[in-house]
Amino acid sequence: MPCTAKKFEAERDEFKMDGMPNVDAVITTQELIRMIKESGVIFDELAPEAVDMPFGTISGAGVIFGVTGGVTEAVLRRVSSNKSRSGLLQLANIGARGGEGIKEFNVPYGDKKLHIAVVSGLRNAENIIGPIKAGEHFDLVEVMACPGGCVCGAGQPFTAAEGKHDRAEGIYTADSTSSIRRSEENPLMTALYDGILKGHIHELLHVHYGTHSAGEREHGND
Ligand code: SF4
Repeated sequence: MPCTAKKFEAERDEFKMDGMPNVDAVITTQELIRMIKESGVIFDELAPEAVDMPFGTISGAGVIFGVTGGVTEAVLRRVSSNKSRSGLLQLANIGARGGEGIKEFNVPYGDKKLHIAVVSGLRNAENIIGPIKAGEHFDLVEVMACPGGCVCGAGQPFTAAEGKHDRAEGIYTADSTSSIRRSEENPLMTALYDGILKGHIHELLHVHYGTHSAGEREHGND
């Protein structure tokens, strides 16, 4: 994971079933790199091979979750009725991309418009909470606690601003070269949704956070 906060998250009661944690361990990207180096594996000398299933079939929509605005763009790909290539290009320029602290934009949806905000960096969330409390309506608000999104997470190797920009660009390149761009077109995902997840989607995939102590609230999570 790019995220140190997920270590805390995995220990929370919301992620336990009958007292047993759903996740055994959370390893950050930095820790994984250290483990690989310590084990003596030299990546450059490895013969390329296919990724283990079920992780070998991915969609570009899943890949862009790693950069701020990516979750929003993936959702818009899912709900958009224009499933053509030009539809993808349109959504790429709709206002979700870019590292600004807050982006607000409208997206046509049938005979309505979706009012959307994308927040990059937890401290900017305060600037959107005010208008929401004052009654401004949003159909979707994405908040990435780390400025720039998970590519800049605390579990990632340190890099200066240029490196963060390159990571975001790398994510968009990986997306544009994916053979599957929308999550609903990933056959593994549809099989999961129609199979073992059926009837349990909300219970297994969505989390509702209750009220926690001040100490717990200090840990930021999206
Ligand atoms: S943006 Fe959220 S999930 Fe991603 S690394 Fe930061 S805290 Fe973790």
